[in-house]
Amino acid sequence: PPLCIQRYEFVIDFVKKNKPQKVVDLGCNDCTLLRKLKFHKEIELLAGLDIDSAVIRDNMYELAPIPTDYLQPGDHPLTIELYQGSVTERDPRTKGFDLVTSIELIEHLQFEDVDRFTEVVFGYMAPVAAIISTPNADFNPLLPGLTGFRHYDHKFEWTKVEFQTWALKVCREFGYVVAFTGVGQIPAQEESIGFCSQIGVFQIDRSGGDAPRLQNNVAEEHLPYRLLYNVVYPS
Ligand code: SAM
Repeated sequence: PPLCIQRYEFVIDFVKKNKPQKVVDLGCNDCTLLRKLKFHKEIELLAGLDIDSAVIRDNMYELAPIPTDYLQPGDHPLTIELYQGSVTERDPRTKGFDLVTSIELIEHLQFEDVDRFTEVVFGYMAPVAAIISTPNADFNPLLPGLTGFRHYDHKFEWTKVEFQTWALKVCREFGYVVAFTGVGQIPAQEESIGFCSQIGVFQIDRSGGDAPRLQNNVAEEHLPYRLLYNVVYPS
């Protein structure tokens, strides 16, 4: 299957194993991943955030309940919330989730915004787990005809070492442990190159007690994200 599908499948496998109740997808774009996740009954709150309101508005109604959802109400509650906003801003409505996903998002951020993203996600949202994916620059020489980055809007593409250096710093600063993996076939002779898309799976590390979380110094009523869509499924 195409790489984007493999990334979604990776998230879905994680959801099946870990059964998070509250999931937020950062950079949810056309809501493809959210549409797949809404069938997972353990999830009670499914949120999406993107800076691009148009792409959310064009796709959000596909998350609406269909007539059978009313005729045969589910036996579990499900709320879906879609927000327009930037991952560089803190909004209390994304705190306390079990899982944050950020699939092919960080490479679209300027470096100073990667730092903000890191603080917002791991210091402020402080989810139990986070799945972060980004292209692996080490793999680029294997992509035929590629010169430069994989997409014109990429601000950088990290090598395996660069991604792992960032991720390990996240762990030290915010009290997480990380496992490195990815999707995209590894040609047999090129195993040291790694995956086409590299993925870090972060889990909060409670072994040494809770790490200090960043305090929100603005009033909790400050809600920088704009709620574009909100639906409660019949149950
Ligand atoms: N996660 C989706 C996927 O895997 O198919 C979409 C990935 S797309 C390459 C990157 C998305 O991140 C776009 O929808 C873009 O609008 C969004 N984005 C870029 N900068 C953002 C920011 N600062 N805050 C929130 N979303 C952002």
